Amino acid sequence: MHTPFSGRQFALLTRHGKETILAPLLSAKLGASLVLTQDFDTDQLGTFSGEVERQLTPKDCALKKAQLACELTGLTLGLGSEGSFGPGPYGFGTVNHELVACVNLQEGWSVVGRHYNFSSVRKLTSRSTSALYEFMAKSPSNQGLLLQSTAGIAKGLHGIDAIKACLNDWFGKESLLVSELPEALTISDDLRAHQCPERRETIYRAMENLIARLLSPCPDCQTPGFWPDQIHSGLPCRSCGCPTNSTKARTAHCSHCNAERTYPVIETEADPGQCPICNP
Ligand SMILES: [Zn+2]
Ligand SMILES: [Zn+2]
Repeated sequence: MHTPFSGRQFALLTRHGKETILAPLLSAKLGASLVLTQDFDTDQLGTFSGEVERQLTPKDCALKKAQLACELTGLTLGLGSEGSFGPGPYGFGTVNHELVACVNLQEGWSVVGRHYNFSSVRKLTSRSTSALYEFMAKSPSNQGLLLQSTAGIAKGLHGIDAIKACLNDWFGKESLLVSELPEALTISDDLRAHQCPERRETIYRAMENLIARLLSPCPDCQTPGFWPDQIHSGLPCRSCGCPTNSTKARTAHCSHCNAERTYPVIETEADPGQCPICNP
């Protein structure tokens, strides 16, 4: 297999084990390798648990990490990954959105791969020790937990003994014998990548998307990342001919030379079920 990235090295900055997700894909699909650096604590750019508020947008944050990875390693190509959680479509459920950015400092381009998934993140605030233990007992395997009290925050907890150790630290031995704690604690999923199998799966998909984009060059200048992100709705209804919300075409735009291509979808008519007139 030969790709434009065969034999190249990509720098990655992480202290959350993301190299184990990204390196196998780099090798299998691009013939490239990964160089890990841990010389900067990315938690300084923001944490899920809120001790450090993220100032940048998720996209700018992923790009910043990719650029830092290049600067710290002296490599030209860098990767950066950033995740966020927000309400799902129509306010239903929670969605985890993952981005994996690639920058090429020498050629001055960047490409961002993305994927989102419904998330099952959980959170509970309670004074009841049995409720906290039950929350832990119902955790998916390998999912770390986070426990917060006014005394502090403990991360990456696995197993009920890990909760007991925190209670002992914060409230003393007696707290292990009572059913009601002196204050309510918040227990939730630890969302850092090495503690969260669900996020790792979504990061994997975002990396697959990044690789597909990297292997899609601009037809005019060959810069990677020529991808039809811009969606045009208005596919005509099969029954009445009115424009619907269904996708009619997609446009790719090159940020380097401004080339543009529009690709109509294969279908020429939309299902009347999608039509605001026939199915209001
Ligand atoms: Zn119609
Ligand atoms: Zn171009």
